[in-house]
Amino acid sequence: MARQSKAKSFQAPKGMNDVLPPAQKYWEKFFKVSKELALYYGFDGIDTPILESAELFKKGIGLNTDVVEHEMYTLKTKGGDFLALRPELTASVVRSYIENGFANQPQPVKIFHSGPVFRHEAAQAGRYREFHQADFDIIGETDPIVDAQVIQVIYATLTELGLKGLTVHINSIGDKNCWNKYRDELKLYYRNKINRLCKNCKKRFKENPLRMLDCKDEGCVAIKASAPNTVDYLDKACHDHFKSVLEFLDELNTPYSLDPYLVRGLDYYTRTVFEIIPEEATGSQTTLASGGRYDYLVAQLGGKPAPAVGGSIGVERVINEMRRQNVKVNALKPRARIFLAQLGDLAKKKSFRLFEEFRKNNIYASESFGRDSIKAQLRVADRLGADLALIIGQKEALDDTVIIKEMQSGVQEVVPLEKIIDEVKKRLKKIHPRTIASDN
Ligand SMILES: [Zn+2]
Ligand SMILES: [Zn+2]
Repeated sequence: MARQSKAKSFQAPKGMNDVLPPAQKYWEKFFKVSKELALYYGFDGIDTPILESAELFKKGIGLNTDVVEHEMYTLKTKGGDFLALRPELTASVVRSYIENGFANQPQPVKIFHSGPVFRHEAAQAGRYREFHQADFDIIGETDPIVDAQVIQVIYATLTELGLKGLTVHINSIGDKNCWNKYRDELKLYYRNKINRLCKNCKKRFKENPLRMLDCKDEGCVAIKASAPNTVDYLDKACHDHFKSVLEFLDELNTPYSLDPYLVRGLDYYTRTVFEIIPEEATGSQTTLASGGRYDYLVAQLGGKPAPAVGGSIGVERVINEMRRQNVKVNALKPRARIFLAQLGDLAKKKSFRLFEEFRKNNIYASESFGRDSIKAQLRVADRLGADLALIIGQKEALDDTVIIKEMQSGVQEVVPLEKIIDEVKKRLKKIHPRTIASDN
């Protein structure tokens, strides 16, 4: 059999990305800030499986939504179960709330949840097939103050991350008591325009007219421009609820703008819906966070009826926006001020052990253990911006000593190995850290 000269090379699946080392600090920062704020606002963390019964999302998100109709990754297991890679987190949170008896705990239950979600969308800039969300949900409370608190914890997370110029776009789509009247008005408005609607909207007109407002098709967007507003058809209870949410936002001076056609792409929303968008942004990819109230979802998924509200942050979009706004994020690891260099086998072993000693003493050290030439190692030390090089040559290895070389001045001194930690601590206090190009 002929040998293949070259092995097959692989690529990550389309629309799915590696988070490479330069991006890691942004991810760390995102999760540090969002978790800290979740705790401050009283949210407990949970984690759920990436796979769930496909039925959960069909029931939860709605059959005629883009997400369920076109974008779910589904699979049949060997045991015959029909599962889906979760396309969002809320349905999973509610499933867990019901399954684990959260309803028996004091209400409301506040949950923070984050992780990857999957949608088989057409790949385009800013849209990925695997992306990450961080969700804040409050289940078991109707008071409009919790709508405002969900918006606030998300808004605060984004601003704590350093983002500027954010606006909360907000609307109320009412509840069961308002929908019939609005749906009739909407159908009346669209009736003589059906021919101009896209294929999907023709179907939506019959099955789920509200979804037409969510269509991205250019023709449909134009027709929408003079469609009736949801807020004009709210009953008193929904109207008062919405008014109250806005008053709480006013109380914190949270910048918001009323968006009468905002309905969100999922079926489970009631009353409040919102998106957070940076001012200068254009296009739908720039929505950094979104959410709303979902008062019927718990019952719809088989639980005892419980009102709820939640919102989710798109992690990749937020990180892209942090980079676009040039938000400064500290490196994950402080720069190592000392560098260990060695010559010969015995010295290498001693250096290897000394490296551990520094870690236990909370002193960051760097090394280039694979290199054997002292000159080459010192070049690395210089590039990394080390203040001190600790050199163990063949002689020092036998004598149990170390040469301390101050990189800036070139001055060096021989120190007993057993005193090296204290000596380094003393000198680092005295020397002013060097500045190198990579500090910015
Ligand atoms: Zn359409
Ligand atoms: Zn209502």
